[in-house]
Amino acid sequence: MAMKSTPTILGSCPSCGENIVHRGEFYGCEGFRDGCDFTVSIHALATIGHYTISPKQMRKLLKGPTQMYFKMSNGVERIFTVKLKNVNGKWRPWIDFEAGSELEVLGSCPCCGANVVETPLSYGCSRWEDGCEFAIFKNAIKRFGGKMLSKQDAKRLLSQGVIEVIIRTFNQQERKVNLYIDNEFGCKIDFEGDTA
Ligand SMILES: [Zn+2]
Ligand SMILES: [Zn+2]
Repeated sequence: MAMKSTPTILGSCPSCGENIVHRGEFYGCEGFRDGCDFTVSIHALATIGHYTISPKQMRKLLKGPTQMYFKMSNGVERIFTVKLKNVNGKWRPWIDFEAGSELEVLGSCPCCGANVVETPLSYGCSRWEDGCEFAIFKNAIKRFGGKMLSKQDAKRLLSQGVIEVIIRTFNQQERKVNLYIDNEFGCKIDFEGDTA
C-alpha cells in the first residue's frame, strides 16, 4: 500500500500560525488555502553567500535568530545572525547586523583549512554545516582544574599547535602542562611531558 508522504512540519508561520513545511525549492505555509502567502526560497540567502537554507536551519529560524555561515563572493567567510523579518508585508530571512554578526577569524581549521571562529561553547570550524566537526571546547581543561580557554589561547593553539596551560593536581597543586591541537578532540593535554 502506497503511503502518501506527509511533509515534515518545521514550525509555525510567523504570519498566520499555521504549519510551515518544506516543499522542494521553498518553505511554505499550510495556511495558503486561507490566503497566507508566507514562502521562503531555500536559496533566499544565496546571493549573499549562503547557498541553501536547510530544513534544520528553517526550523531554527522559525524559533528565532539563528547563526549562519556565509562565504562571500570575495572569498571572505563570516558568521551572521539571521532572523525572519517582515519587510513591506513579505517575510524573509534577514541578516541581523545589530546582533553582532561578524566573528573574528581565530585561525585555520587543522582538519579542513577553513576559518575557526568563536561559538558560544567552543572555538570551532566555520564549515560545521558541511560536516567538519573540529572544535576546541572552551571548557576543555576545566575538569583538570584549568581555566576556560580564552580566544587568545585558541589563536595561539591554532598557530603554534601547542601552548602551555596550568592545571591542578588532586592535591590542588598547580602544574604546567602542554596542550596540543588535536584533529579529533580539538585539543589534548600531554600529561607525560611535564614542563614544570
Ligand atoms: Zn501562514
Ligand atoms: Zn574544518
